[in-house]
Order: sequence, then C-alpha cells, then structure tokens
Amino acid sequence: MEASLQLKEGSIQRDEVVVISGAGSGIGLATARRFAELGYRVVACDIDPQRVDEAVGDIGQGRHDVWGRAVDVTWRAGVQDFVSQIIDRYGRVDVLVNNAGITVDARIESMTESQFDQVMSVNVKGVVNLSQAVIPAMRQAERGVILNASSVVGLYGNFGQTNYAASKFAVIGMTKTWARELGPSGIRVNAVCPGFIATPMLAAVPDKVLEKVVQKSWMRRLGEASEIADVYAFLASDAASYINGVALEVSGGISL
Ligand code: NAP
Repeated sequence: MEASLQLKEGSIQRDEVVVISGAGSGIGLATARRFAELGYRVVACDIDPQRVDEAVGDIGQGRHDVWGRAVDVTWRAGVQDFVSQIIDRYGRVDVLVNNAGITVDARIESMTESQFDQVMSVNVKGVVNLSQAVIPAMRQAERGVILNASSVVGLYGNFGQTNYAASKFAVIGMTKTWARELGPSGIRVNAVCPGFIATPMLAAVPDKVLEKVVQKSWMRRLGEASEIADVYAFLASDAASYINGVALEVSGGISL
C-alpha cells in the first residue's frame, strides 16, 4: 500500500478498497470522504439506506469511486452477503474500518438487559461479523488493515455507560488478540480511541456535561470528525506499516 498522506486532495485513483461501517454519519462519513480524497475505492455501509445513498452521492460526485449499501452489522447473514458482493465487484478488501457504534446510556442500577444487549450487539458483535467476513480475502492477499472504533471510554470507563464501556474495552481486547492472530499473515489490526468528537452521537449528551468535557480538555474544544478520519487514514497507510495491536487515544489529551 502506498503511503499517500501527502495526497491531501489526491486525484490519483488507487486500487485499494476500503470498507467503512456506519459511514452515513459523523466519523464514518468523514472517514469515507477522507479515503475517497486519498484515491481509495470506498465501500460505505450504514443501517440507514437513505444515509448511505446520500453519503455515496455526496462523496462520489462523479469524481471518486464510492459504492454503498444498507447493512445492519449485527445481522451476520446480511454482512456475509454484503462482503460477497464487494468481492464480486472489486475482488479485494484492503482496509476495513469497523466504525459503526451506538450508545444507549443508563446507570448500572437502571440499565435494562435490552439496553445492554443492544450496545454489545452493534459495538462488539458487529465488529466480529464484518471482520470475520473480510479476513479470508485479506489472508489470501497476505495483507490488509483492520481498524476498530474504540473510545476513551474503552480506556477509562464513563459514568452511565456500563454497556458502552464494556463494548469499547472488548474492542481493544479483540484488536490485540487479532493483531497476534493475523499479524503473521500481513494483516495489521489497530483500534482508535477518540475523545469527545462533535458528531450526532453527542446529541444524547447534555450540554452541561459537554461544557465540562471542554473545560477538562487541554485543547479546550471537542474534536472534529475529520481529525479521527485522518488518524484512520494514517493507520491504513504504509506510514504505519509497523503499527500493530495499538489502541491509539485521539482525545486532545483529555486524560492528562
Ligand atoms: P454517529 O454519528 O452516530 O454515527 C454512527 C453511524 O453508525 C450512524 O449512522 C448509525 O446509524 C450507524 N449504525 C448504528 N447501528 C448500526 C448497525 N447496526 N449497522 C450499521 N450501522 C449502524 O456516531 P459517531 O460519533 O460518528 O461514532 C462513530 C464511532 O466512533 C462509534 O463506534 C463510536 O462509538 C465511536 N466514538 C465516537 C465518539 C464521539 O465522541 N462521537 C467518541 C469515541 C468513540 P443510526 O444513527 O441510525 O444509529
């Protein structure tokens, strides 16, 4: 894979295919845009068909090779079918960004079984489903990059987020396990742990809490989705060719 971070507005079309889940919103959308700018062939999926169509139209604009489909990452058979379609279409998957994720917050005393299961299903099982579906193609090619969305909550926990914290710690555990299992086959696996990033996901967080977060942050601001997209692009590139099994915090130093 050519390192091409300098191709900021690169019009060079590359052969590599990147698959991004949850690409209809927030960080996933910014990441799809970033990889398209870098010349990758972008495959976008999201649970919401309208958002996928909008993302594909918006990013593609006749300039970039972007294709997408509505996929619920928790539905294993649907994910397998989606990846088969990608292989039929492109014959390869070079990079997978397991970005789709949800929050359903409640304190431990009031969290229902359904709230716990919902979050674990998307944030953990969804990551397993998509990864298992693309790994055979990566193994065959003896190369590939899997990037998993964790969170600072997956490093430090967070009030009211038992389910989300469990899921994001799990993502780091899976990342480190797969880095060992797949590294010898030329497949790198890393996790990104964003701090608080201004996306629709933060709509569920009360303003008062967000103000506190900004005050606690040494950058005195929330992060931008594009700042996480840039990290995914770096980790996918050959500039990161010896980075395997890390959980990279990208939070403006919020934990300092
Ligand atoms: P977002 O704006 O809510 O985008 C997530 C996208 O994933 C949404 O379009 C969502 O659809 C979709 N999605 C949800 N369930 C899905 C499923 N079962 N199958 C396929 N797609 C599904 O969130 P974001 O802030 O960009 O977050 C992206 C990732 O970064 C998540 O894994 C999140 O946990 C992580 N993260 C975010 C922050 C932050 O501060 N924003 C911080 C740390 C980590 P719906 O909207 O319909 O659910």
